[in-house]
Amino acid sequence: MKKNNFKIAVFAGDGIGPEIMKEALKILKIISEKKNVNIQLNEGLVGGAAYDHYGTPLPDSSLELALCSDAVLLGAVGGPQWESLDYSLRPERALLGLRGNLGIFANLRPIVAFDELLDASPLKKNIVQGIDIMIVRELTGDVYFGKPRGVKKGNDGKRRGVNTMAYSEDEIRRIAVRAFEIARTRKKNLLSVDKANILETMELWRDVVTETGQDYPDINLKHMYVDNCALQLIRNPAQFDVIVTTNLFGDILSDEAAMLTGSIGMLPSASLGEKTALYEPIHGSAPDIAGKNIANPLATILSVALMLRYSLSLPREAGLIEEAVGKTLKEGFRTRDIYQKNKKLVGTEEMGDTVVKKLRNLVN
Ligand code: NAD
Repeated sequence: MKKNNFKIAVFAGDGIGPEIMKEALKILKIISEKKNVNIQLNEGLVGGAAYDHYGTPLPDSSLELALCSDAVLLGAVGGPQWESLDYSLRPERALLGLRGNLGIFANLRPIVAFDELLDASPLKKNIVQGIDIMIVRELTGDVYFGKPRGVKKGNDGKRRGVNTMAYSEDEIRRIAVRAFEIARTRKKNLLSVDKANILETMELWRDVVTETGQDYPDINLKHMYVDNCALQLIRNPAQFDVIVTTNLFGDILSDEAAMLTGSIGMLPSASLGEKTALYEPIHGSAPDIAGKNIANPLATILSVALMLRYSLSLPREAGLIEEAVGKTLKEGFRTRDIYQKNKKLVGTEEMGDTVVKKLRNLVN
């Protein structure tokens, strides 16, 4: 029987976090009212807000809340008032702590160009039009975790730095399976990005992704070297559907791809773990605009859509949220960051309320 009781941990965080989260929760409320799903929201503190209250950015109570939830929804953490703290107490440590404890191994970044915002892209309209890419980045391996690592003084008295690119076949298979499954829910094209022409670890990556593909004969699997992918993302981004890649290459390519749409306030993300998953906008806590009711809540609202699709098995409802955002933009509503001449400038709250109105009409 389909599950229809869900527990969601909600961490608004710092800066604009509470403002954008408030709008995202209005969206969730409509889905739970109209669709007869019971969504229990449990709020907790993380980041600077948690440090101020508990003296630590990730208190045990918040971690426990996250661990016993079906999904975690996060605003953003950080701000100048906590920058002088010891590294271990900084708000951003909460993100690392959550990711580590939830066993998160895949980061999903959808890059979608809304027709109404094509002008915001630094690229020509005809190049970005219609792009709908999902980047699946591995998060637990690669040079970020491989050993040996460090900087040592050699016998010649000169320093030498070492990091190690390392992947086990299980780590590669785990992310490949997720990527093939995601491709199955889309246009059934998967591109694996590596550097197998130079690096043995990447040769293993390519072999294991190819082997995994034997279980997915319905998916069209291709491979590309990372340098070519970086180039193709600018030359012809519309060619891509799902891209799966390593931690290092994914870090760089996903930021490059984020710029295709040109608006940081529009981009959601999902981080999938063994037990649960974390959903958050890709932007930070934007302390420069916090408390002014001008932040764009759409990335957080779109993160709710991802949560419905990947953790609550409600793909139809996820699609309705995305449609409501599209309609809101089509009717000319804009927060300051995506404002264009002759459009309707609105604040955070009005933007959220407009999406709510559209969603109500769609779900009825
Ligand atoms: P940022 O993403 O917070 O802001 C960059 C610029 O984009 C700013 O000008 C900001 O006003 C604007 N912006 C960001 N989100 C917006 C939105 N929703 N609507 C309108 N404008 C928006 O990055 P930053 O300034 O480098 O970092 C600020 C703080 O956030 C730092 O403490 C940093 O460590 C933290 N941070 C947290 C996360 C996270 O929680 N996942 C991610 C990145 C940065």
